Amino acid sequence: MQSNAPPDSDVQLLDTTLRDGEQAPGVSLTAAEKVEIARALDDAGVSVIEAGSACTGPGEQRAIEQVTSQHLDATVTSFARGVQHDVDLALDADVDGINLVVPASDRHVETKVGTTKTGVQETTAELVEYATDHGLWVEVIGEDGSRADPDFLQELAAVSHDAGADRFAYADTVGHASPDQVAEAVAGLADLGPVSVHTHDDLGLALMNALAGVGEGADLVHATVNGIGERAGNVALEEVVVSLWHGYDIETVETESLYGLSSLVADAMGMELPPNKAVSGQNAFAHESGIHTDGTLKDERMYEPYPPEAVGRERRLVLGKHAGRAGVRAALDEQGVSVTEDQLEAIVSRVKALGERGKRVTDTDLLAIAEDVTDVDRERQVELLDLTATSGSSTPTAGVRLRVGDAERVASGTGSGPVDAAMKAVKKALGNLTFHLQEYHVDAITGGTDAVVTVEVTLSRGDRSVAATGSEADITLGSVHAIVDGLDRLLATEDDPALPADD
Ligand SMILES: [Zn+2]
Repeated sequence: MQSNAPPDSDVQLLDTTLRDGEQAPGVSLTAAEKVEIARALDDAGVSVIEAGSACTGPGEQRAIEQVTSQHLDATVTSFARGVQHDVDLALDADVDGINLVVPASDRHVETKVGTTKTGVQETTAELVEYATDHGLWVEVIGEDGSRADPDFLQELAAVSHDAGADRFAYADTVGHASPDQVAEAVAGLADLGPVSVHTHDDLGLALMNALAGVGEGADLVHATVNGIGERAGNVALEEVVVSLWHGYDIETVETESLYGLSSLVADAMGMELPPNKAVSGQNAFAHESGIHTDGTLKDERMYEPYPPEAVGRERRLVLGKHAGRAGVRAALDEQGVSVTEDQLEAIVSRVKALGERGKRVTDTDLLAIAEDVTDVDRERQVELLDLTATSGSSTPTAGVRLRVGDAERVASGTGSGPVDAAMKAVKKALGNLTFHLQEYHVDAITGGTDAVVTVEVTLSRGDRSVAATGSEADITLGSVHAIVDGLDRLLATEDDPALPADD
């Protein structure tokens, strides 16, 4: 494939989040949300904001009016079909311009609109003249242009320009085109006048196709924030901006505002981003593996194409099953926790164990583990060696293996649930080492069913009591850890706790 390096040109963006984006299934924005998003797009430096389709209904028209009443720097437009009524509705909403959509492919000309190619050309010329006469900026979009007869698409663009349109948009309406096709078509259209590209992501080619268009002279790229749009969506604005900037040194909008825009739109539309989404995904600047974390700590750019700050984000070192010493040490330092090398070793293995259960280890999780581990520094009297528990429709049963002093004790028990069964097994294994469970309390530190839970217990023995916690993804294990740690602390202060001998 030929190199489609965009020339060092002035490329601008048309954002259609509020029109094409809002057409995504299940998405609807209030007027207030549209205004907020439009303001953010304007602040970021987007040149054209397609605020909606005035022909959709009075509510949509009022929403567009509210956007136009903000007097933004951007050119605010409305989508309009090839009928004068739509142009009038857009004029009523006081827009600066219209995106006049006329059929280009045979399918759209004949089957959808029920006209002829000549009819389309005539209507287009009339409406462009009508709109420009009313002072509107006009972009003609040849709908389904990528599946249109190339000669007709050229003629349609020529007619549009002759009638006074500001530009013509090459629309890959169903995300059908290959980059080569886009390049060829745009090159021809660019000879006739200013050309825009409107690309969809059905083949995963939306960004590549947009860049292919820019490479052949397109200087206005249609995009939506987060790539939200019909079906597989449009090309993502943040990806166009970043790839033009990073790859070709072409500045369009302020890159620092991209993450804020992404978050704003994701929240307003109730569409969460996939974690691996370029630029804005949760993981886009997160490093978990020990090797990558270690490299990143030595040189921040080691595993990043550009710094996260450039798009308004921060780098995150994530702890999980791939964690290494350097990353855990750095995370602990950040929390002001200092540990010995041995403790670090233990913390790393607990972090990895938690991660292996499919868990991302948060700072809170890490602290809970660190607290747990740093407490284990001394000679323990009681230690949990093994726990098994079963629950479900059969009787909950648990088995424990404890080290008590020098002896190993094994016992099992049944109960109302796995925690109850485990408690009974623990008590049995401890034999004459009795204690009283005064309080038992469970907290989920993190959300979700895979959350780490902290079990808080208060144990008493004689006239002394102690509070202890256990943090685990498994509630039964957390409970037993809390009990065993609590008892261990109680026993640590007793002169002669009369530890049991081996069975
Ligand atoms: Zn579209």
